[in-house]
Amino acid sequence: MLTAADFRGQFPFFTAHPDWVYLDNAATAHKPQTVIERELAFYQHQNSNVHRAAHGLAHEATRAFEQARSTVHQFLNPAADSQLIWTAGTTAGFNQLAFGLMGTLLQPGDRILLTALEHHANIVPWQFHCERYGIQIDVVPLDSENRLDLVAFHQLLEHKPKVVSISHVSNGLGHIQPIRQLVAAAKAVGALTIIDGAQGISAGPLDLAAIDCDFYLFSGHKLYAPTGIGALYGKTAALQLLRPLMYGGEMIKQVSFTGTVLNDLPYRLEAGTPNIAGALGLAAAVEFLQRFDPEVLQQHKQQLLQRLHQGCAQIPGLQLLSGLEDNAGIVSLVLPGEHPSDLATLLDQQKIAVRAGTHCAMPLYAALQQPGAVRLSLAPYNNIAEVDAAIAALAQAVELF
Ligand code: PMP
Repeated sequence: MLTAADFRGQFPFFTAHPDWVYLDNAATAHKPQTVIERELAFYQHQNSNVHRAAHGLAHEATRAFEQARSTVHQFLNPAADSQLIWTAGTTAGFNQLAFGLMGTLLQPGDRILLTALEHHANIVPWQFHCERYGIQIDVVPLDSENRLDLVAFHQLLEHKPKVVSISHVSNGLGHIQPIRQLVAAAKAVGALTIIDGAQGISAGPLDLAAIDCDFYLFSGHKLYAPTGIGALYGKTAALQLLRPLMYGGEMIKQVSFTGTVLNDLPYRLEAGTPNIAGALGLAAAVEFLQRFDPEVLQQHKQQLLQRLHQGCAQIPGLQLLSGLEDNAGIVSLVLPGEHPSDLATLLDQQKIAVRAGTHCAMPLYAALQQPGAVRLSLAPYNNIAEVDAAIAALAQAVELF
């Protein structure tokens, strides 16, 4: 059986740069050799546009592109009546959703429900459009353990929001939300349910048929795939509610100056030439992951998380914002009185790559009353030696303050 060490062995970055300890996986993950080679092979051997030309190369590119869509869709254990739309990433997906639901599902006077721990991608597009349409945004607060306040969530559902949009895993803290229960409760009041899967997509096998959400969004680059490609999964009925955000070629059936007939799903939401190599790269990342036992990878990551969390907790003065339970692999911490970037700079000097700041989740840090945090985020290719190096570097850095 393939181990976590075998997994690491497939990532050329680690062989080329053994001096770096990469604990910034929540920002973006490294790419395995097969993903890099898939993009290269497309440009070397298959390059042509999809869904257009009458020549064999274009047919081959179209076949590979549609096969990639099916591979990524099936990886999600999708509901029977669902489809996968290619996007440029999670942010692009949210912009399509917020724009696409205004005036169709969402009408002036409606309410939508977000939470205090959302990434800006799941806040700002809503804010922009809701303000213009006169739609109210309610926000689920955090409880004393920096998790969603479930009592408040249920109370806010009494306002009958038309949309409930929540992250699967908090990118600021790593906490995994009980999305199955949240979706069920939201559906019980008739809300359309949206899950931000940017961090959840790499947190173990998904079962979207069981979760039963209307939409699930993610970015390929956090799942070992290239940047600039992502997906918007949706139930077909929910996707049909969306007004396209982008107009042009690909997404039409017929165009004349007296009127245009739009194409069917999924093409209706995919205007212009898509990121073909990126889509093939994302499917290659999925196929790569499928060679490993997800249990083995997740157990390894959880062992690293325990060691990292405990090691950080033992450093005098550090305050941990992330809990250990139901955590997808993130330790966020602060050194009270010091700015998180100063701590991160000292870690960087020892080639420990972490992120510092508000992690595109300013309302979360406002709720936590913190200027931000240092975030150490794990992937299954990390190892114990790296975790120990990070703990030692942190202890040394803290002593300098
Ligand atoms: N949501 C969450 C929870 C994220 O972690 C991220 C990436 N940091 C995003 C949305 C946005 O993803 P992208 O920048 O790839 O569009």
